[in-house]
Amino acid sequence: MNIQMMYNTRMIGRPLTKIIATIGPTCDITGQIEKLILAGVSVFRFNLKHNTQEWHNERINRIREVSERINQPVAVLLDLQGPEIRIGSFVEGEIKIHTGEEIAFALNRQPGERTIVLDNLKLLRSLRPGQRVLIDDGFLQFEITHCKKDHVDARVVKGGIVSSHKGMNIPELSVELPVLVEKDLEHLDLAARNEVDFVALSFVRRAKDIELLRNEMQRRKLTAGIIAKIENQQALDNFVEILEIADGIMIARGDLGIEVEIFKLPFFQKEIIRKTREAGKPVITATQMLQSMVVQPIPTRAEVSDVANAIFDYTDAIMLSAETAHGEYPLESVQMMYAVAQFIENKRVALPANEDSPSMVEAVVVSAYKLYQTLLHQPMSSIEAFVVLTTSGKTARLLARLRPGIPIIAVTPSRSVRDQLLISHGIIPRIFSFPEGAIHSFRALFQSLTKQHLVKPGDNVIVLHGKGWKDTGKTNALSIETVNA
Ligand code: PGA
Ligand code: MN
Repeated sequence: MNIQMMYNTRMIGRPLTKIIATIGPTCDITGQIEKLILAGVSVFRFNLKHNTQEWHNERINRIREVSERINQPVAVLLDLQGPEIRIGSFVEGEIKIHTGEEIAFALNRQPGERTIVLDNLKLLRSLRPGQRVLIDDGFLQFEITHCKKDHVDARVVKGGIVSSHKGMNIPELSVELPVLVEKDLEHLDLAARNEVDFVALSFVRRAKDIELLRNEMQRRKLTAGIIAKIENQQALDNFVEILEIADGIMIARGDLGIEVEIFKLPFFQKEIIRKTREAGKPVITATQMLQSMVVQPIPTRAEVSDVANAIFDYTDAIMLSAETAHGEYPLESVQMMYAVAQFIENKRVALPANEDSPSMVEAVVVSAYKLYQTLLHQPMSSIEAFVVLTTSGKTARLLARLRPGIPIIAVTPSRSVRDQLLISHGIIPRIFSFPEGAIHSFRALFQSLTKQHLVKPGDNVIVLHGKGWKDTGKTNALSIETVNA
């Protein structure tokens, strides 16, 4: 059979696609975090635009505590505000804005005028007549009419109710906002104290933004992976350089769908998934995946298809935002993603192995993948999983890049490497240490993996390793092993 037409079939275990859940008030119900993990969540995301440091700190600890107790690793992702624009607060909490009325944008409330407060003078001064301003995912629309000394007037093109601290988009923004706001720096301290696994940066514009964040992280000895959120045209224009320097990518469809024309979104999504996967880095498909499940127990047909299509395209992870943060059906949302993933993953067409393998490690990885494909035709010797001995996580990611249809059990001595692999497609990372020197036997490793129900006696696995343990970047051997009883 032609490999390209072969389906990746696998019947058992968790889906290979990772599920990310955003933490919010609904996760405070007793036992909820545990239920979400057991239902399939691998990564929890903290949206730092909301709540206080103490709030986040408390919940990071709770997740870690549950994860330890039930012996199921989960990663923590902190999502920084970055150069994202938010409006200020209203005394009343929210106001109703009418289509056609005039409204002011200003640093402070304007006497006699209805005002939307913005705390950034530079931003206010950059506004020009004719510019479009959108608030709350484009739900409210404005057009700037006059720029005065201390405020800016705008005509309401589409009104509605607007509440405090909603997000704001100015697609033709010309001003340079700082990469990190004051609050982000404090959140990096929080991230360092808790040794979180990922830091996501909103509204990344270019590689330099990531560089600056990395410097701030290094100053705090924070080794978390950096996820660049692609949310506007500028990020699309500079995608190649951003991908080069980031550790992973999030397709932030909420804002991207406002900043670029919404009908182009599916195309950009496909392109970003493909390019990020080819670069061997994790890609997250985010926002409104099961939006209607915020208030309903069953998703729409379109939403289920959306989740399925991201999986058909081999996204690493699918993300829930409002669905788990403050929706009425958080658990059902995770279960729905799980069910879609498990079914669709068995229907995907296998990817062709990359022929030009520039490094020795990549050549070994491609050979392992081809070996697995070849053995698929021989039911007696079918392979249940790959087992990758990895100190940096690199070899496991290189293999995940080819998206084999079976789990990649990544064995590493490092907790942080383990947890940063949790977001990647098909990787089941576990901690294990070999004695120093050459590796003579996998017996103890297989025993440990059997105890964790990841393999069972009689299973055939393909093991990728170096001659010795801890030879970073020296994977040079692969062998077919049968798990011993
Ligand atoms: P946000 O980012 O939820 O922090 O806005 C994701 C998105 O824009 O899709
Ligand atoms: Mn966003």
